[in-house]
Amino acid sequence: MSGVAPASPVPSAPAPAALEIVDLHVSVEDREILRGVSLAVAPGSLHALMGPNGSGKSTLANTLLANPAYQVTAGRILLAGEDVTDLPTDERARRGLFLGFQHPEEIPGVSVLNFLRQAIARRKSIDDFSVLEVRMNLLDWTKRLGMDNRFQERYLNEGFSGGEKKRNEVLQMAMMEPDVAVLDETDSGLDIDALRQVAAGIAKVREARPHMGILAITHYQRLLEHLVPDVVHVLVDGRIVATGGPEISLEVEARGFEAFRPEFGRPEFGRAHEEAPA
Ligand code: ADP
Ligand code: MG
Repeated sequence: MSGVAPASPVPSAPAPAALEIVDLHVSVEDREILRGVSLAVAPGSLHALMGPNGSGKSTLANTLLANPAYQVTAGRILLAGEDVTDLPTDERARRGLFLGFQHPEEIPGVSVLNFLRQAIARRKSIDDFSVLEVRMNLLDWTKRLGMDNRFQERYLNEGFSGGEKKRNEVLQMAMMEPDVAVLDETDSGLDIDALRQVAAGIAKVREARPHMGILAITHYQRLLEHLVPDVVHVLVDGRIVATGGPEISLEVEARGFEAFRPEFGRPEFGRAHEEAPA
């Protein structure tokens, strides 16, 4: 808390979700991929979204990023209680949304440092932006994340190993100081040591930003062994078919996603998100 808090008409009102998705329907090339997805990530909490290949996980990530190839046909996206469904990528980033990609792009000729300088300048208003501060902060975070301090001079993702790409995503997350981070398959293609480092890095960023909400998208349970989620959602065929605690990810590991298909009906995990007719 700093400065003078604005007077609130309802002092005891709970903080709005860091990220809320309400009955989201998304089409790609006129094919409906997400068919009514709802979830709410409270400040400080870590949600995992699990699902088989092709279930729509990256579609959700791209939609949250406002990628124009992904068309929202119904539903809403809210950041800290504010509807951002119609806002472009930059505006969402300015409001504290960060996205880590499944396949980070190589940007030849742009160093890690310069990329971050530009991204942070867009995220923050220019007048409270200091290049020196970015440099110092970057040095600090590369150290905290156990990365080589020459890393910042390298060109973004050019010749990075799978592990370096993912650790760089975590570094970007730390530097962008988001309120909500959506991480798409941050664990994909990592060996066990790299996976541990990435999970430890995410944990360090959480310590530094305890109010940050995280939606970690993953195919496998193994990331969640190192990064225990508060809530797990299972996405199958564009719908959330189960929501619960970490035990759900163990269930996925043991029985596969097939067991979560709606036709299996899973009353013990309830809350299948079939939308009731209006
Ligand atoms: P996941 O990340 O869970 O593996 P995706 O969201 O990538 O799933 O894909 C879900 C479905 O949407 C797939 O059938 C895929 O072919 C389709 N899809 C996703 N993105 C695009 C795109 N940019 N163009 C065409 N089809 C897409
Ligand atoms: Mg994907």
